[in-house]
Amino acid sequence: MQCEICGKQIKNGIKIKVEGSKMTVCGQCSNLGTKINQKKEEKRKSSSNSSENKIKTSKRKNRTRKSSRSVYDEMDELVDDYPKRIQKAREKRDLKQDELAQKINEKSSIISKLEKGSKLPEDKVVRKLENFLNIELKQD
Ligand SMILES: [Zn+2]
Repeated sequence: MQCEICGKQIKNGIKIKVEGSKMTVCGQCSNLGTKINQKKEEKRKSSSNSSENKIKTSKRKNRTRKSSRSVYDEMDELVDDYPKRIQKAREKRDLKQDELAQKINEKSSIISKLEKGSKLPEDKVVRKLENFLNIELKQD
């Protein structure tokens, strides 16, 4: 192989561009033109970030558990003999049913029914009775 410019014997010619035409020349003559990159630069594949497909699995925990204590559950906490306890505590303070009712701002009929055990007291009534009579109506 010869240099296309100077005719010098070359082993590995260098491809250059001279005024638009490609030539294979020697090392010296290669300076006369523009080197053509023989080795195509390996296109650096800007590799799309390799499989970091972190699938964000949004864990949706079903919060269906509502600690739903029914009203009846609370009522079950009452001691069995709450009618007697109310009556005892009331009589201990020398109060009539309607007097006690007035003290806790409830109807006397409620006290009457409670002491007969025919009606379960509402929670607020229980609390008022407990506080006023200083008794325990709920089970431990
Ligand atoms: Zn040459």
